[in-house]
Amino acid sequence: MSQIDPLPPLRDVITKHGLRAKKALGQNFLLDLNLTARIARRAGDLAGSDIIEVGPGPGGLTRGLLAEGARKVLAIEKDSRCLPALEEIGAVYPGRLQVIDGDALEVDPLAHLTPPIKIVANLPYNVGTELLVRWLTPQDWPPFWSTLTLMFQKEVAQRITAQPGSKAYGRLAILAQWRCDAKIVLTLPPEAFSPAPKVESAVVHLTALPEPRFPADAKTLERVVAMAFNQRRKMLRASLRALDPQIEARLERLGIKPTARAEELTLEQFCTIARDFA
Ligand code: SAM
Repeated sequence: MSQIDPLPPLRDVITKHGLRAKKALGQNFLLDLNLTARIARRAGDLAGSDIIEVGPGPGGLTRGLLAEGARKVLAIEKDSRCLPALEEIGAVYPGRLQVIDGDALEVDPLAHLTPPIKIVANLPYNVGTELLVRWLTPQDWPPFWSTLTLMFQKEVAQRITAQPGSKAYGRLAILAQWRCDAKIVLTLPPEAFSPAPKVESAVVHLTALPEPRFPADAKTLERVVAMAFNQRRKMLRASLRALDPQIEARLERLGIKPTARAEELTLEQFCTIARDFA
């Protein structure tokens, strides 16, 4: 294995600092620094960007990001046991690593950063989807970040990138693809982590588009999509009836089959419905 920095191997770091993985914090650590550098490269050119990393843990991905030339990494970690290990990394990259000891669901990292900003993380599974939805639904678009490069359970990654007609297609696919390009850029087996999770993982790379793919009011679109997929096995004329008792006629006027089910509708068709309710 080639050496990406002068720091000790991650296994030694974990032993030295007593970082036994805690399930409650979604801790599955990456131990292979060549792999973490590879994930960092999937985020594109890092030299001209500030990076937010959620959940650095013992710092494998953090080291990958810094070794690959990130201008600055702001790492938010809830488990204070990891702080001494992260301090040792900061000492090797003076002025380029800032660590916030806190909960990513509560911390506002923006005050510390200069655009362009990329978010890169091997997310804790228990908060990953919630953070993604927050990043995808800011008050204004374009958002504060230019790209998201995120590790999820493979099943979640597939829901983010799913196309109409598939089981995985739903609210997450529409939220993500309406205003981003989203693709799976790496798939990892359970053994890549310690401890090994039960399922495969995948890295999704999302690039924020300057404007939505199709015009629509964000709140209205979210409402229509949530309603349609809450009863995904029902026909639209039933699942969307609460929006309008005359939904059948409305859908027909829009050229959408009232007997179709949510998972058959394209993103463009959802936007068409949302615009009609605006
Ligand atoms: N980045 C490391 C790696 O790739 O080896 C660790 C990834 S591990 C899947 C998730 C990390 O997120 C853990 O270090 C955990 O302590 C941290 N974490 C869990 N919940 C968090 C939260 N709400 N805010 C910040 N960090 C959190």
